[in-house]
Amino acid sequence: MAPDTRQKRRITILGSTGSIGTSTLDVVRQRGGRERYEVLALTGNGNVELLAAQAKECGARLAVTADESRYAALKDALSGSGIEAAAGRAALLEAASGDADWVMAAIVGTAGLAPTLAAAERGADIALANKECLVSAGDLFVDAVARGGGRLIPVDSEHSAIFQALEEDQRHAVERIVLTASGGPFRTWSRKEMAGVTADIARAHPNWSMGLKISIGSASMFNKALEMIEAKHLFDVRPEQIEVIVHPQSIVHSMVGYVDGSVLAQLGAPDMRTAIGYALTYPERAPLDVDRLDFAKLARLDFEAPDEVRFPALRLARTALTRGGLQGAVMNAAEEVAFHAFVAGHIGFLAMADIAEETMERLAHLPPASSMDDVFAGDEEARRVAAGLIG
Ligand code: NAD
Ligand code: MG
Repeated sequence: MAPDTRQKRRITILGSTGSIGTSTLDVVRQRGGRERYEVLALTGNGNVELLAAQAKECGARLAVTADESRYAALKDALSGSGIEAAAGRAALLEAASGDADWVMAAIVGTAGLAPTLAAAERGADIALANKECLVSAGDLFVDAVARGGGRLIPVDSEHSAIFQALEEDQRHAVERIVLTASGGPFRTWSRKEMAGVTADIARAHPNWSMGLKISIGSASMFNKALEMIEAKHLFDVRPEQIEVIVHPQSIVHSMVGYVDGSVLAQLGAPDMRTAIGYALTYPERAPLDVDRLDFAKLARLDFEAPDEVRFPALRLARTALTRGGLQGAVMNAAEEVAFHAFVAGHIGFLAMADIAEETMERLAHLPPASSMDDVFAGDEEARRVAAGLIG
């Protein structure tokens, strides 16, 4: 029987050309593609050739590049396809606030905040990969989703694991949440050894294949720092209820500990398509072609305490959680500036945490945000301070 087009789920993928975006399109393909889903919009940035190819493959109505200078190239690549091309921030916001039932938020960094917020306010279900939204805007973002009426479904593997292990009617009985961390490529390195690494060395993650920013963030453990703050806002837990444990195999994706001593964990191969698939079909579970765990082959799962001296990002996250207010936004913005400086070869690997820490100190006086304007202002101020420190 031909599928009823009215039954199709309307989806938009913000950041479709990235690591999460391409995995999302693969999951959509596996789950029936055009038969089941109507893709309203795909968005990207510089890589308009990939964006156009994706849009043609999934039959998207609209493709948007955030980079205005790439508009002609995108239009060219889409000519004759009937797919609309658009470019720039305003077009991106318009695509995000379109009529989708489900929006994958997979733009990297603070650039993802405004479009994801627009989708949330419009009322779409938000599959949230972009952790920076919650780190910067915190409860203001959660409130925006609630006001819009859509659901907030985490895609970050740790938060998806916690979301899956949380018994909805037992939230009051949660004692702690335990975020697992692979430890990254420098898990066993000394600070002296880390001091001289380049971005090419730092980006080689042992288990996961990811975008550049998150790969570097895994090496410095800034990614885990962001995830601690992300967890606070997603699961409404106190800072002292958030633990981090290093688990080099990346098989246990995270855990929830309850007041009776029970711990529920979610396990799986290190493949983001599992979390993406869960977010796409939630609350249903649907078949996915991903690797199955072979426990006999795995043989062991290791855990070790994180080292906050070698990886100060974790300590900074605790500071941000304790201070509250705009410190998450400040830490995130400073880290983003420092990350770009590191990738460009202007600062060393260890300087990223120093710059974030110093920026947080200098802006510790900022009052808590009462609106998104405050968040954007705090973000901008932190970028200015961090850039000044880099010189
Ligand atoms: P990526 O760098 O591979 O892709 C980023 C996407 O954002 C691309 O489509 C790019 O075109 C777009 N983009 C970049 N700059 C932009 C701008 N200024 N304006 C608009 N669009 C822009 O990143 P990724 O690894 O897919 O990560 C995306 C988000 O998901 C990040 O927030 C990351 O922390 C989070 N995340 C990723 C993974 C992973 O496995 N890759 C896991 C968990 C969470
Ligand atoms: Mg993660």
